[in-house]
Amino acid sequence: MRILICNDDGIHARGLRDLALALSDLGEVTVAAPDRARSASGHSITLHKPLRADRVTVPGATEAYSVSGTPTDCVALALRHLLRERPDLVVSGINHGPNLGWDLTYSGTVAAAIEGALLGVPAMAISLAGRGIDLSFQHAARCARLLGEAFCRRSIPPFTLLNVNVPWLGTQPPHGIQVTRQGKRRFDGGIVERQDPGGRPYYWLGGETPEDELTPGTDTRAIMDGFISVTPVHLNLTAVELLPEIETWDLDSHWPRTT
Ligand code: MN
Repeated sequence: MRILICNDDGIHARGLRDLALALSDLGEVTVAAPDRARSASGHSITLHKPLRADRVTVPGATEAYSVSGTPTDCVALALRHLLRERPDLVVSGINHGPNLGWDLTYSGTVAAAIEGALLGVPAMAISLAGRGIDLSFQHAARCARLLGEAFCRRSIPPFTLLNVNVPWLGTQPPHGIQVTRQGKRRFDGGIVERQDPGGRPYYWLGGETPEDELTPGTDTRAIMDGFISVTPVHLNLTAVELLPEIETWDLDSHWPRTT
């Protein structure tokens, strides 16, 4: 099996290094990752400046590139140009921090997996739902390995991916693995306003504790309960249940026609 690894924490991040080692004996591992931390970059791409891809060494990988772009740039560049052969799986992570509920559209980690899925390669994003600098990726790496083995035997339909989150329980392993649906996670706390030395205000987003939906069966709930969460994700954002309602707005009949 050929595996492409990417992330949004950058090519030097411990989570990516541990992931490459964990998957290295499942097949041929290649890496294309941002040259610096690019968390919360979403699905953005670089269109107005050139990209560089420098060959680097990552233990466990046969080939590795440090790319001067976003996580999505890395996957697009690798799949469309850098790799000689198409991989069988794209794995993004292991992210340092959770990607749960509505985090998904902010996440560079998930976006890299989405790009893999859009380009027709089965993909998964994996995140360690812990904060702090001294946490270990050991259990998350073992989980990545278990899922990598599952992808050797199984597949998912085109344009879908798995979003995996591993709880942080200190040195304790997670209690088990639950298949979940995307929950709700809202960041609607205050924004911090401060003053710069010139007396002008500046602002900080983020940092507040999110409000999670804790309905059983959701990713947010599984992590709170200490379980690994595996959510199948697709890219169709249509609110199908709203189609009949919006049809009743009768927009088309109000559009002036000249003929
Ligand atoms: Mn990140």
